[in-house]
Amino acid sequence: MAHIKCIGVLTSGGDAPGMNAAIRAVTRAAIYNGYRVVGIKRGYYGLVYNEMEEFTSRSVSNIIHHGGTILKTARCKEFTTAEGRRIAHDNMVAAGIDALVVIGGDGSLSGARIFAEEFDVPVVGLPGTIDNDLGGTDMTIGYDTALNTIVDAVDKIRDTATSHERLFFVEVMGHMAGYLALNGAIASGAEAAIIPEMETEIDQLADLVSRGFRKSKNSAIVLVAENPETGGALGLAERVKREFPEYDARVTILGHLQRGGSPTAADRILASRMGAQAITALCEGQRNVMIGIKNGELVYVPFSKATTNKRSIEAAQTDIVKILSI
Ligand code: ATP
Repeated sequence: MAHIKCIGVLTSGGDAPGMNAAIRAVTRAAIYNGYRVVGIKRGYYGLVYNEMEEFTSRSVSNIIHHGGTILKTARCKEFTTAEGRRIAHDNMVAAGIDALVVIGGDGSLSGARIFAEEFDVPVVGLPGTIDNDLGGTDMTIGYDTALNTIVDAVDKIRDTATSHERLFFVEVMGHMAGYLALNGAIASGAEAAIIPEMETEIDQLADLVSRGFRKSKNSAIVLVAENPETGGALGLAERVKREFPEYDARVTILGHLQRGGSPTAADRILASRMGAQAITALCEGQRNVMIGIKNGELVYVPFSKATTNKRSIEAAQTDIVKILSI
């Protein structure tokens, strides 16, 4: 696109390991292709409150291996209003920014879609979220690292669960998507995963107990996707105490531990490929798309599909946990 001279890059919403690798790739691919780059701080907040900084290729040195995001991230209420987005656009124009690369999750890409439509600005998104809950992509940046963090934690919990012959509920993130819980359970050899895509939590718990899952085993670990409505792992443990007092149930909530840490090689490679592709997309005149990955190939996913067309978890995937935990 001949009229693009300067690209703004921001990270928004929940942080995810690999965001730095994505910022680095966007910055260097843009500079390589002759564009100026401006780093926007604290997500959309930096656009609304003018917190921006000219980036050189050295601005992103030595960050590929760090978790978090050097640009910081935030949730910005102002940007959800038309007035806030108008101020953001005025600031963007004043800074000479012609196009944006937004790295974030569901909400961030919804904001990007609305902004792009309102002001006719080319915006390309990168899926940056540990939840793996965006449509049109097999994988999001940060998911693999979070999954490995969960597996590492569950391996440690297994040692103590076995020693004390306990039932552990391990709560992981992803209250709208059970990928972390399900694949965390498969990879750590957990006895079950309780995820939002399946029948209600109560039914899943009853099913577990009716299978007598602990009878021939000296420990059991159930991964539970966080769930503010039902109380997640704590809610389940309370219920076990009341209804199945024969089980010695404990709870571990992994919480923000899952967001941090050095990104895995898989996340660094994904973020680097997607970041470079975001610049290729802008060069090709693409706009209002998220870079996704399908069967190993990078693809362009319209924002509307990325944010509304959630992938479903197949029953076959949940069956694996059941079959392999006999
Ligand atoms: P995660 O999946 O890790 O939670 P996210 O990107 O979904 O990340 P949100 O808190 O949902 O995180 O959104 C981040 C920011 O995006 C919001 O604080 C707001 O500034 C902007 N945003 C979200 N939804 C909208 C919307 N409908 N319109 C405008 N801006 C939005």
